[in-house]
Amino acid sequence: MLIAVGVDVGGTNTKLGAVTQDGKIIHKRRFSTRDQINKEAFLETLSTNIKMLISDIGKEYVDLAGIGIGAPKANFYTGKVVGAANLAWQGAVNLRQFLHDQFQVPVIVTNDANLAAVGENEFGAAREMKNFLSVTIGTGLGCGIYINGELFHGQNDMAGELGHTSVKFKGRYCECGKQGCLEAYVSAKGLIRTTLKLLSKYEDESELRAIASRDLTPDKISSAALRGDSMALKIYQYTGDILGYKLSDVIAMYNPEAIFLTGGIANAQSLLFEPTRRSIHKYIYKSYSDPIRLLPSALQDDEISVLGGGALVWKHLENKMAIVH
Ligand SMILES: [Zn+2]
Repeated sequence: MLIAVGVDVGGTNTKLGAVTQDGKIIHKRRFSTRDQINKEAFLETLSTNIKMLISDIGKEYVDLAGIGIGAPKANFYTGKVVGAANLAWQGAVNLRQFLHDQFQVPVIVTNDANLAAVGENEFGAAREMKNFLSVTIGTGLGCGIYINGELFHGQNDMAGELGHTSVKFKGRYCECGKQGCLEAYVSAKGLIRTTLKLLSKYEDESELRAIASRDLTPDKISSAALRGDSMALKIYQYTGDILGYKLSDVIAMYNPEAIFLTGGIANAQSLLFEPTRRSIHKYIYKSYSDPIRLLPSALQDDEISVLGGGALVWKHLENKMAIVH
């Protein structure tokens, strides 16, 4: 059986899976990224996990087509990861060279924010789309961009850093050191910062007041909103308003057919989608008369990045990865 291994290197965990050409994950594994004391330990553990993934399926049944891997600050052109703030690695890590030496198959490396877009295009709801964006809202906020049917990498595979574009002059401090970044408002941490801000600003009764600030989570906020808690609903309205404000700029820049929202925070579905849609309509450049298609992913949240890694391989083999500069 021909399989591609898709890998998503996250700051907390690394997920990997064996992905078939028709988009099924037949086996998956994960290991702690944080527990790897340095880059050498990480590479060793990654290699071991890929070998175990294959041997779990049965070595004799597997024909490895390639490895597709997304990581923070990974560069499609060089195959290296350099200076990722959430990975405790000193210096550059050449993922492509290392994995190629280990497995002698094509290895495609890219910025982790691109995985969801590639997965959506190969296996999800964007299969027929040429111009779209996939915005992943979880711990942070990442974005992958398709232009004319191709993933847009930019000069250094850094295109789509939407999370660190500004939504407010001298606004909230962001972990990147800037002020007013979208990610400081629209992300798990952003949602919690908004909760604390609105709880102190308004006097509405809210079940969220009974939760210690360190115990607040996006799930608790969305559960309260689903029960009709007016404060929790205000939090999503505020978040959607800011997200829609930024997406109206994105629409003016790229004229996409659709924008997908994925990731843990987007799982709140209509709680986030509805205020975001209203906000887009409020701020959009009026020449855009078509309705904006703001869509959830057709893929499962816990599988999309690994599917995207696998899709990198299948696209590479189909010579679909023509580069748009
Ligand atoms: Zn930032």
